[in-house]
Amino acid sequence: MATLFALQARLEKTVLEQNNPIITTISNQLKAQNYRAKFSGTQIQTWSEQFELSPVELALHCLPLAACYALVPVSNFYVGAVAIGVSGNFYFGANQEFSATAMQQTIHAEQSAIMHAWLAGEQSIQDMIVNHTPCGHCRQFMNELNTAKTLKIHLPHSQNNLLHNYLPDSFGPTDLNITQVLFDAQHHTFEPSTDPLTQAAIVAAQQSYAPYSQAMSGIALQVGEQVITGRYAENAAFNPSFLPLQSALNYRRLSGLLDEKITRIVMAEKQAVLSHRGITEELSQTLLHLDIEYIAV
Ligand SMILES: [Zn+2]
Repeated sequence: MATLFALQARLEKTVLEQNNPIITTISNQLKAQNYRAKFSGTQIQTWSEQFELSPVELALHCLPLAACYALVPVSNFYVGAVAIGVSGNFYFGANQEFSATAMQQTIHAEQSAIMHAWLAGEQSIQDMIVNHTPCGHCRQFMNELNTAKTLKIHLPHSQNNLLHNYLPDSFGPTDLNITQVLFDAQHHTFEPSTDPLTQAAIVAAQQSYAPYSQAMSGIALQVGEQVITGRYAENAAFNPSFLPLQSALNYRRLSGLLDEKITRIVMAEKQAVLSHRGITEELSQTLLHLDIEYIAV
């Protein structure tokens, strides 16, 4: 399992290879904030003025650094992404693969950046910047967003393309009569718990997005002194749905907490026509050697 040391080494190597003062500045700031891979809109505005770059141009410079957060034991193929929220904040994302388990548990870089932003409380995503052309799975995943019609994709070789240029004649939530989509507020209420970690998982489940199965679910990880949560995000095409443990592990990684030991995992899930309990237990046992505490809500 990749450690903080490995991330630091990759960032240092990237800074040397790129030999670009903008990338050096951004990398130094990542270090200063303990590798938390998010920048505020205010920080971005300062850099935009300092380097005379638009936010999208700045995000393109961030890509080699975002790719350093990848976990790629299978492909050794580093994908970095930056999601720009309506707040102006930048959220990094990177692909993550888990060896010794199924390919289907993989996290794509665009999903990583979007789920990072969603958990951080962002209201919508305006721009997606990524160092490789989005795959079909990610195009479909992004079509679930409340900004799918206006979302712009920016690649090193081509900028300002609408998502729907990459996904013409698309199938999405409106085809299944869903109007409150991903990033719109979700209002589910479940019975509370007195255990703080369990309660955190229940709150995450309340905020999760599962309009097709109604199997709302959330995860809470005890990571040292901190609690990190993850939420399930469903997709109209089902398979690109994003699981709650992936969501939490992704947030932990992009928060720079790679080496912090996870001591407890709680999963809260609404009882429905399907369940992600089995697949979540499988990843938890394979990757973290931990059993999950499962709460039916
Ligand atoms: Zn993808």
